Amino acid sequence: MTVRKTLWELALAVMVTLAMLLAGCSGRGDQSATMNDDRLLVAASIAPLYDFSRQVGGERVRVELLVPPGSSPHTYELTPAQLQVLSKARVLVLNGVGLEFWADEAISAANNPDLIVVYTSQGLEIEEGDPDHGGGNPHVWLDPINAMHQVQSIRDALVQADPEGTAVYQANAEAYLAELEALDQEIRDKVATFSSRKFIAFHPAWIYFARRYGLEQAAVIETTPGREPSPAEVAEIVNTARAIGARAIFAEPQLSSKAAEVIAAESGAEVLFLNPLGDPPDFSYLDMMRYNLEQMAKALQ
Ligand SMILES: [Zn+2]
Repeated sequence: MTVRKTLWELALAVMVTLAMLLAGCSGRGDQSATMNDDRLLVAASIAPLYDFSRQVGGERVRVELLVPPGSSPHTYELTPAQLQVLSKARVLVLNGVGLEFWADEAISAANNPDLIVVYTSQGLEIEEGDPDHGGGNPHVWLDPINAMHQVQSIRDALVQADPEGTAVYQANAEAYLAELEALDQEIRDKVATFSSRKFIAFHPAWIYFARRYGLEQAAVIETTPGREPSPAEVAEIVNTARAIGARAIFAEPQLSSKAAEVIAAESGAEVLFLNPLGDPPDFSYLDMMRYNLEQMAKALQ
């Protein structure tokens, strides 16, 4: 176990070195652009945290998104070029609760004493999750009130990394927190019009959202993201879908919707998509949550 871990760290260190050499040999234009760029380099693991970092950082920061569009954070592994970003970044914004399963190794391979690592879920009440994957459910950001806490953690980390920008970060954060508060109220108003409270989720991403707004994930298609349900599990979810009179089965753009299609066909429901991560190139969290709310309303209103 120890030997394996050491080998893995060695492999990461080699990848970082190779990536640095490659970057040195090619992309001169790119390199000079980076050299003239005196913005604070921030790396964010997932798209919502990328958006929060840009909202708070404004023009003082350059944010790199680590888990790219279309990928699931549960399965994506960092590339050597991304490890190289970590060796130069000042702030690394993570969700925590085991979502960034690569974090410890990547941080140690980056060998960057100036890197401030912020676990934005720290201090939040964590729901139970898959015992094989760290034990907690990581999807805290899908509750806008939790998102406000994450935005405040990012603000504090940016202030620590760049005290000269304190006033800017505080003002940006305050403005964005007000937008999140308005979003929360919008969701409350809409959910109040729902005739049903139970829904079938694709993977257990919506538990914090459900808890906040009095909804219930009646069943989950992939309890471990990327692992398709067995025929027996499919049959059970179909029964649940019929029992709650589900009009829709939710799929997600980052994971295969095949199982959702089968369950929807069997239970006479339609497939709708919820998006837990947002769309490129803007990844606007506010737009994403409004989209999700519309889809939920189609299924539950
Ligand atoms: Zn997830």
